[in-house]
Amino acid sequence: MLKALAKGMGTTLRMLFRRKPTIAYPYVKKERSARFRGRHELRRYENGLEMCIGCELCQVACPAAAITVMPAENDPERPNSPGERYAWKYEIDMLRCIFCGLCEEACPTEALHLTREFELADFTRESLIYGRDRLVNQHTSPFQVPRNVYPDYRGWRPVHEPEEGHGEAVEAAGEGAAPEVPGVDRTAGAEEARPA
Ligand code: SF4
Ligand code: SF4
Repeated sequence: MLKALAKGMGTTLRMLFRRKPTIAYPYVKKERSARFRGRHELRRYENGLEMCIGCELCQVACPAAAITVMPAENDPERPNSPGERYAWKYEIDMLRCIFCGLCEEACPTEALHLTREFELADFTRESLIYGRDRLVNQHTSPFQVPRNVYPDYRGWRPVHEPEEGHGEAVEAAGEGAAPEVPGVDRTAGAEEARPA
């Protein structure tokens, strides 16, 4: 019994002088590994245009059906992205997401990126469905807009959220139809602006 007691005390003494593995979270945060996959972000090119072109490949690749993308045609005069389309609606349900990174792999423009941010706790299910307002970065990234993209426009456009009832209008119009946006005539001059 004395032997066991001495052994136990020895273990206690040894542990007393070891570096403590606990940290004062949330004041101190552990460094994530380089491979860690956390919250998503949608990046912008260095000139402010969104890198996402609304191709929906990330939605198709997602094994958890966590991503919803609804594309719309860019206004050639004021495009959101350097392509014919942009993600008019983009949502990720963080409660469904398993952070596998397949969406990031599938993205042809490298717009979608999984950051190392992991503090996603919230109080309601709705607040864990991230829309464009939280996913599209306000800051730019050092990526250059690829050459020979349509339309030939370079400039910043702030993030805007889909308007009320807009999604229903897209669905009613049928697959592939561009939604009507007040103040934007999508037919005027669009064909002329497209390269042959
Ligand atoms: S990380 Fe995986 S589960 Fe999460 S949205 Fe991307 S593909 Fe879907
Ligand atoms: S994030 Fe990438 S894969 Fe997803 S719709 Fe945008 S461009 Fe396509």
